[in-house]
Amino acid sequence: MASGILISNMKIAVVGGGFCGLAACFELLQIEGVAVDLFDAQGLGAGASGCAAGLLHPYPGEQGRKSWMADAGMRATLDLITVSEQVLGTNVADRSGILRIGELAKLYSDTLSQGKDTHLITSGVTVYPELYLKGLWKSCEKKGARLLLMKIEHLSQLQDYDKIILTVGAGIFAFEECRHLKLGKTKGQALVCRLPKGVEMPKRSLVGKGYIAITGIPDQFCVGSTYERDDISSEPCLEAALADLQPKVNILAPHLGILDVIACRAGVRVSTIGHYIPRLEKINEKCYAITGMGSRALLYHAYFARLLKEQLLINMKIV
Ligand SMILES: Cc1cc2nc3c(=O)[nH]c(=O)nc-3n(C[C@H](O)[C@H](O)[C@H](O)COP(=O)(O)OP(=O)(O)OC[C@H]3O[C@@H](n4cnc5c(N)ncnc54)[C@H](O)[C@@H]3O)c2cc1C
Repeated sequence: MASGILISNMKIAVVGGGFCGLAACFELLQIEGVAVDLFDAQGLGAGASGCAAGLLHPYPGEQGRKSWMADAGMRATLDLITVSEQVLGTNVADRSGILRIGELAKLYSDTLSQGKDTHLITSGVTVYPELYLKGLWKSCEKKGARLLLMKIEHLSQLQDYDKIILTVGAGIFAFEECRHLKLGKTKGQALVCRLPKGVEMPKRSLVGKGYIAITGIPDQFCVGSTYERDDISSEPCLEAALADLQPKVNILAPHLGILDVIACRAGVRVSTIGHYIPRLEKINEKCYAITGMGSRALLYHAYFARLLKEQLLINMKIV
């Protein structure tokens, strides 16, 4: 960590209180002399981060290939999970691995074959998003960060700040300055369900065509997720979610039976076009954006927050 680097009295506005925004706040606060205000229109975890299932592992995607910079991404996120756990004094994630049902491009050092087309990804982690964000924010507050509940319509509202970091998820499409970024969006829904009586909870999360994620609550699991391109809103639609997800559960874990849904969560994923690698963009001298997390936010949000910190330090010729 680059603590001990003195930049006198720099004020930074981070806009958006999801995974990316909180990781950015945390990293920027490691620089001495930096003060951070976090702006969010609705509060922490109000966007896609609040409906994420929490799956974190190096092999997302149909064929289960290792993602770009996966080791660095895993390390950066695990560090922030530890920060969150230390401040809350409780676990914010399950580290017992993730069971992958289906093809895997090859056997990696952290994957154990468990029979045909079944692998235990031993490095797999299931994060509990709400708790994780709560702890991460608490650690930022301890360093003096403030949360301001306000929608930012124009960057000019933040003219008193030395730097502005946009981590607004799907809100990025509303900023004229970001129109040139080639980004797409997909709606995703996940269902929080009650475990049927007499049925044993899966010991760890399962991924295949769809997934079943443990939630940290003994009788609740999360099923996901849909990829909807026709209706790009963050309005939940239980009917559409069930039509897509119940058949997946029937294959992945038939013993869970007919889903007893407690909550239907919907969010909009922002992705880069043509590949899955997120972007750290310098929008102008003052403003940067972290965007395009797609379905891999947990793998990349902390890593991109570190890249942001390094880029700011380089631009200020501190390192
Ligand atoms: C159903 C579902 C399940 C998922 N599961 C996983 C998973 O298991 N693992 C994984 O890695 N990824 C998962 N994802 C993807 C992941 O949730 C997203 O990529 C990630 O949350 C994006 O984080 P973010 O911080 O960029 O944006 P967001 O979490 O969307 O946060 C943006 C924030 O900015 C605020 N905001 C927006 N505009 C403005 C404005 N103008 N002014 C002020 N505030 C503003 C919003 O209120 C919001 O709080 C899932 C996504 C969905 C939809």
